[in-house]
Amino acid sequence: MSAPQDDIPFDKSPAAPSGEMLRLSPLVRRMIAPNPGPFTFTGTCTYVVGQGRVAVIDPGPDDAAHIAALTAALAGETVAQIVVTHTHRDHSPGARQLQALTGAPIVGCARHVPIENAPSGRLDASHDLDHAPDQVLADGDQLEGEGFSLVAVATPGHASNHLCFALPQENALFSGDHVMAWSTTIVAPPDGVMGDYMASLDKLRARDDAIYWPGHGGPVREPQRFVRALAHHRRQREISILNSLGRRESTIEEIVAEIYVGLDSRLTKAAGLSVLAHLEDLVLRGAVEAGGPATLSATYALKG
Ligand SMILES: [Zn+2]
Repeated sequence: MSAPQDDIPFDKSPAAPSGEMLRLSPLVRRMIAPNPGPFTFTGTCTYVVGQGRVAVIDPGPDDAAHIAALTAALAGETVAQIVVTHTHRDHSPGARQLQALTGAPIVGCARHVPIENAPSGRLDASHDLDHAPDQVLADGDQLEGEGFSLVAVATPGHASNHLCFALPQENALFSGDHVMAWSTTIVAPPDGVMGDYMASLDKLRARDDAIYWPGHGGPVREPQRFVRALAHHRRQREISILNSLGRRESTIEEIVAEIYVGLDSRLTKAAGLSVLAHLEDLVLRGAVEAGGPATLSATYALKG
């Protein structure tokens, strides 16, 4: 989400309806959870990798009907691994329901550790605190499936525990919420960190994946070009914030009103968090001062 983004080649074409298992490639199938919304687009994408003995990536929200539809579509097959990209509530809670039905281990991202007393406040209500992985994967760790493998690519920024998963057999990457075709991702402090997000974009740009399968919406084709546009967009946003502060010292509310033109009002709070993420980064880099820690209510000024 965020305002003028003509520089990014978004693809907002609607994905298939929720509840249907769709084959996307020889090794990848997808079922969309019934949780559409301003932050989830058409709903969370649950991916099935392999055939016969499969891995399920991001079982989605706490929704028994979605898990029932998923297991029904996988009748006669075995869920060998339940893989989770990050612990936002629209991605990980379904893992426990799927585990209860299949007994498969939950692997992937670490549990979320709430940041106490963060200057920017406790803004991590979007996290699933009950996530309890059987195995945590670190960057480069490989899961072996039948006829495929999944390699963890640590990509903090949207969430500190965020992992993407590469599928080398198809030169594909499950990009979670880090990179999506339909929208920019949300980077909301304290768990979301802009500097980490930018570094994670650089990390993906250095790879040669041919296609991304995101946590929401359809695939990202020409991913290197797309990721370059995302990074450019954030740098432009940073310049807009610095220009705004060059004219006068400002609060986040004032900056959002100035630089997010025509913003959907449901996204105002998220826009504020995104600006906070930029300001936190700029304070850290010594370019901006907040008269104290970077918070949602502070007044910001250029330093020097
Ligand atoms: Zn998320």
